[in-house]
Amino acid sequence: MEKCIFDQIVEGKIPSKKVWESDSVLAFWDISPVAPIHVLIIPKKHLQDLNSVTQNDKEILGDLMLAVPEVAKKLGVKDSGYRIIINNGEHAGQLVPHIHIHLLAGKNLGPKII
Ligand code: AMP
Repeated sequence: MEKCIFDQIVEGKIPSKKVWESDSVLAFWDISPVAPIHVLIIPKKHLQDLNSVTQNDKEILGDLMLAVPEVAKKLGVKDSGYRIIINNGEHAGQLVPHIHIHLLAGKNLGPKII
């Protein structure tokens, strides 16, 4: 079975504009931004969605969340603020079957989530 697009980005088979990475997490610019700053933060390990994670994934999920302020700092928006979104499943519009956090920033995004 062909690997998902984000696995291929992790492996370097598909190019990405990398922002930050650690042993377990990669952050790169979204190809189709919806805000001045739109970065995706993903676990390097393939995890399809939040429904499929188990207790065994605690560490990687912790790494993923802890990466968020690191990425925000790298982007220069840690203090000005940012919104993070995880689309989980069909009705949320999850297109890529690999957990990813959207980090949106670069302007006042207002109080509305959708
Ligand atoms: P979602 O709808 O939450 O699954 O979001 C998937 C996101 O991945 C979308 O915002 C896409 O623009 C983005 N995306 C898809 N392919 C690529 C790619 N090759 N490089 C960067 N971002 C991508």
